[in-house]
Amino acid sequence: MNHAQLTALGRALRVLGEHGEALSADTPDAKLHEVKADLRRALELLDETVTTDVPRTRCPEHPTGPVDESAPDLCLLCETRRRAARRAEYNGPAPQYQSPEPAPSRYGVRGDRPQPQQRWLPELWNGQAWQLCGTPRRDRREAELYLAAQRRGPRPAMAYRLVHEFTDYEVLRVWGTPVKVDIEPMGGGL
Ligand SMILES: [Zn+2]
Repeated sequence: MNHAQLTALGRALRVLGEHGEALSADTPDAKLHEVKADLRRALELLDETVTTDVPRTRCPEHPTGPVDESAPDLCLLCETRRRAARRAEYNGPAPQYQSPEPAPSRYGVRGDRPQPQQRWLPELWNGQAWQLCGTPRRDRREAELYLAAQRRGPRPAMAYRLVHEFTDYEVLRVWGTPVKVDIEPMGGGL
């Protein structure tokens, strides 16, 4: 928490305290709306202050990414790229290979350098085992907020946990030369 955040949060919380002091049976609705707005403001400030992820690596690009203890910058994502680059250098060019006739694919497309994917899985303890209790999220904070809301729900489970899923992709070898070609319009010209 920096000084500006501390000041703003302190002010917002003191305002809420004053609202509590002034509350009585004949507090008008307009005043309650004001309390609501101030409460929301304080929550927003608190969100900004506490949910910022703590940096876990020394990588400027992925400070909160997965950790590889053996990497100089502790960054698993960058270390994976570096390893792939070293391996490509070591293996040299792939042998010549006659590729089969190119066929249109019904599968998805992927970038030149497939990026690792991360997901955060909310799970609950059902008394016997951990079980998924919501949609896996691409955003850690979103998953944490979801679990926090579950815990505040009417019938919360005994325990919850957040699981980090990390799926990495690595191009092991390329056969042939992927040259970009123009797409011909269907049915030919006019
Ligand atoms: Zn990195």
